[in-house]
Amino acid sequence: MPYKFIFDLSRIPRFFFTEIARVGYERGMHKQMSKTAQSMIKKFKIQEATGLNVSDAVVLLEDLIDLQAKNLVEREKFVQTRKRVLLLPHCSRKYMDSRCHAVFEPKIPSYICGHCSSDCLVNRAVVLAEKKGYDVYILPGGSCVPKILKAKHYEGVVGVACGEETKLSGETLKAMKVAGQSVPLIKNGCANTIFNVETLLKIL
Ligand code: SF4
Ligand code: SF4
Repeated sequence: MPYKFIFDLSRIPRFFFTEIARVGYERGMHKQMSKTAQSMIKKFKIQEATGLNVSDAVVLLEDLIDLQAKNLVEREKFVQTRKRVLLLPHCSRKYMDSRCHAVFEPKIPSYICGHCSSDCLVNRAVVLAEKKGYDVYILPGGSCVPKILKAKHYEGVVGVACGEETKLSGETLKAMKVAGQSVPLIKNGCANTIFNVETLLKIL
């Protein structure tokens, strides 16, 4: 399920995400976060940069902080896993039309990247993850996650998605006792979305 608003944080300084990581760590340590999101919105001029109203900006920031905190809590369990999978969102493909040479496998269901564009984020992620021994799926939606996990019995999952999708998949992983790590989209909108490849590489 997508957010009800569109955001693009891809031009926000890298320091913003370092701050998210720090605050996420503090959230993981059970410190009070009540005003932190609002002060970060002011500090990094998130409303001016994205056009979001304050309540949507707070939702977005709190989700980013929560995801970071959950990554930290799950990290130790995750690093002990052996059979891992990377789940990528189809919305980060460079092309969403016939210019994308990915083949869709409805039985999985997943796209299989045809590697048509070296600057496609999905292509870069597939190459990096496969080198590290991950299976990779490019999903048309979060509802595919339980089917893939049940069929393949993965121990560790890295998922790239917007915050809303990640929250839903996180519940599935928790119910199935699978260790998860997430990489948030920094630009949503269900097409031409963006995630940070360096962040993904660190998580992998
Ligand atoms: S590199 Fe892969 S995912 Fe990206 S547009 Fe080409 S075939 Fe599609
Ligand atoms: S932004 Fe991407 S991951 Fe989020 S709901 Fe849309 S298609 Fe799914």
